[in-house]
Amino acid sequence: MTTHEERATRALSDLEELVALGPRFHGTSGIHDAERLLVGWLVGMGARVRTQEVRTPGWDPGASSSLRVTAPLERAVPAWPMLWSGPATGVVRGRVHAVGVQGLWGDSMVWTKFAVTDADGALVAYLHARDGGPAAPQPLPAGSDTSVPHLALGHIDGLSLSEWLADGITVEVELACESAHAGEAVSRNVIVDVPAAGPQDRGRVLVSGHYDTFFNTPGAYDNGSGTIALVHLVRQLMTQPPSRPVTVVLTTAEEWHLAGSRHYVEQMTAKDGEELDFVLNVDGLGRGDFMEVFAGPETFEREFLAVLGAYAAENRPDLRVQSRFPPTCGTDQGAFYAAGLPVAFYTFNDLHRLHQPEDLPNPGIAANIAWSVPLLTHLVEVLPRADRVPSQSLSIPF
Ligand SMILES: [Zn+2]
Repeated sequence: MTTHEERATRALSDLEELVALGPRFHGTSGIHDAERLLVGWLVGMGARVRTQEVRTPGWDPGASSSLRVTAPLERAVPAWPMLWSGPATGVVRGRVHAVGVQGLWGDSMVWTKFAVTDADGALVAYLHARDGGPAAPQPLPAGSDTSVPHLALGHIDGLSLSEWLADGITVEVELACESAHAGEAVSRNVIVDVPAAGPQDRGRVLVSGHYDTFFNTPGAYDNGSGTIALVHLVRQLMTQPPSRPVTVVLTTAEEWHLAGSRHYVEQMTAKDGEELDFVLNVDGLGRGDFMEVFAGPETFEREFLAVLGAYAAENRPDLRVQSRFPPTCGTDQGAFYAAGLPVAFYTFNDLHRLHQPEDLPNPGIAANIAWSVPLLTHLVEVLPRADRVPSQSLSIPF
């Protein structure tokens, strides 16, 4: 019998080993190093492991990018290129104008958008200010003008721009951005099929979590945490086989518009989909006791919340749960839900560390990984087969 403390200690050391590899950005050596580490761990447990290549249009953030306000005062502003941003030619100077709002992942996030124009009034860049917290890059939605730079800024810096503009003050910036579209990017989903013990009369459960990160972060919370939880879930299921077959999918390129999970879904046959009882997705096990759940259809949201509530009443009475319906499309469950499959997703949000260089391991993350492993084992066992949903399309640029 493994105690929670033993599981948390193991989670922290495994997370540290994964994070030590650096950013795990799709198409870079970091994601390939992570794949090797994960496959090594899983094969060492005696698991049957396969990989699935995921190819997307390539994109390179470039060696550096910068943003500086030059009027009404001089100030460097932290900024990152958004995924799919185009490059600037040298240092670009221009005047800032309010445009409106910027939806990301549908309306999962609504940011503030500014245009930068040169002396001739031609557009030279877009600035996107986050709805809360420090600057954090996100992928641009389909239809964005990716021939020009798009820089992500933090919430407070966006407020400064908005207030100056609202007061009629001229705001000028200079910026540099080396990001560019570049060939093709490749990495792999890592998949483990765990057979069921006993009679094969139950459907299959798919448990997913992405192991890639954005280019600027070692991604302990997002989503080294879910990755380690799933690796430990496989270890648990290998020693105590589940009563239904389980497929664990460590997806790549989640940060690239769910490319890994979308590819997985595209490779599924109609029979594969029919066999699945439901999909569980884990992304971002930050610290604390506040869990957010996205599950659908509504009948499955109800089942999931009931099972989770009863489980938490036994061993974590201080857990606070907030559910959101319908599930948003900003993480991997979106690819499965769009394909008509029932999904449940949970996270312990730590949004201030999302896509930050300092998203490093800590004991609070390790505690929520350790707590998640028996929870996932329980969900795999007891959640009933869920209803299907109508399929929908995702607004994705490739
Ligand atoms: Zn994530």
